Amino acid sequence: MHQGNWSCSSCNKAITELPFEPNRTDGLLCIDCFKNKNSGGGTQGEKKMFEGDWKCGTCGAEIKKLPFQPRETGNLKCLDCYKNK
Ligand SMILES: [Zn+2]
Ligand SMILES: [Zn+2]
Repeated sequence: MHQGNWSCSSCNKAITELPFEPNRTDGLLCIDCFKNKNSGGGTQGEKKMFEGDWKCGTCGAEIKKLPFQPRETGNLKCLDCYKNK
C-alpha cells in the first residue's frame, strides 16, 4: 500500500492509503465510492432498466424492461430466452 494524504473527490473523505501510487490526485475515490461506482451507483446491484413495450423474437413473450435501450426491436430476446441461448 502507498501512504499519503489525499481526499476522495466524491465524498471528500480522507484517503491515507491506496493500493497504487496515484499520478494524479484529482479524481481519486475512496474505497467506498470506488465500490459504489463499480456496482452501478450506490443501490446494491440494481441496474438502470429501460421500460418499454417490446416482444421477444423467439417465444413471443412481452418484454417490459430491458437493461439496455434496444436500437432494433425486431430480434429482441426475453430474459428466459436470453439465458437459454
Ligand atoms: Zn468517497
Ligand atoms: Zn422469449
